[in-house]
Amino acid sequence: TTPLVEVKNVKKYFPVKKGILGRKKTFVKAVDDVSFMINKGETLGLVGESGCGKSTTGRLLMSLLNVTEGQIYFEGNEITSLNDNQIRKARKDFQMIFQDPYASLNPRMMVKDIINEPLIVHGYNQKDRMNRVKELLEVVGLNAFHADRYPHQFSGGQRQRIGIARALAVNPKLIIADEPVSALDVSIQSQILNLLKDLQKKFDLTYLFIAHDLSVVEHISDRVGVMYLGKIVELADKKTLYKDPQHPYTKSLLSAVPVPDPKLKRDRIILKGDIPSPSNPPSGCTFHTRCPLATEFCKQEEPKLRQTSDGHYVSCHLV
Ligand code: SF4
Ligand code: MG
Repeated sequence: TTPLVEVKNVKKYFPVKKGILGRKKTFVKAVDDVSFMINKGETLGLVGESGCGKSTTGRLLMSLLNVTEGQIYFEGNEITSLNDNQIRKARKDFQMIFQDPYASLNPRMMVKDIINEPLIVHGYNQKDRMNRVKELLEVVGLNAFHADRYPHQFSGGQRQRIGIARALAVNPKLIIADEPVSALDVSIQSQILNLLKDLQKKFDLTYLFIAHDLSVVEHISDRVGVMYLGKIVELADKKTLYKDPQHPYTKSLLSAVPVPDPKLKRDRIILKGDIPSPSNPPSGCTFHTRCPLATEFCKQEEPKLRQTSDGHYVSCHLV
């Protein structure tokens, strides 16, 4: 069967000016030759530190940005070649939930108007819209009384529920959730994750779930991809990735995830240095400046993402 989403060798380079008088033109390689697919009904977690290109990948999928190179397919149709008008129509099928429900909800709009916005864009009539707003508020665990209130009258968790209601309004097939719980208290995080899981079952949704650490995506993902400096360095189904991580970067991220059973505790792997600038990435394996296992060869030769076992992809010379 055709995957819902297919991303093929996608690159996104942002031009930046450098040097005296900004004459030298260079590029930030925000997304650098990324390929993956998402099957219908599944959740793909995409994890990495800030600046690794995970949000840019999400925005490329939403067609909020144009790709520099490569193709993105949605239900087998290439969306990277659509014109603005076609994209507007196609966008009904994919919606986004944002990290900061404070910033992403217009403070001057009542909740009903916030949820109404996508319904108006996609041509729902007024009576349908009113019913839909009520229905959606209930679906996300709020109720019809909340329709006439403003965002500031809600808690962070409730605001994220409003953001989710807005994303669901036009019955999308794919939801791109960009760190949807990162700004919330830990106790609220699991409520929102459970809500997203319930909604996925109820409405047959497919998720791309973006997060900066591996603990958040474990609960919700079927498969997980790990990004570093614009590239996917490891991709596997969830069980495999958490039990048998192969890439040194994945291992270090996992070593930071708290485990309830102390017997299963991993030794913490602390990486040296900071993430290099994506406008001037290291040669060879871009992780070599921080990798505890780096060799001379790693500095020269870039490893390719290779399949090491069924559905498990890793880019490291030592694997
Ligand atoms: Fe580390 Fe070398 Fe593997 Fe890169 S290729 S992750 S530097 S061991
Ligand atoms: Mg981000």
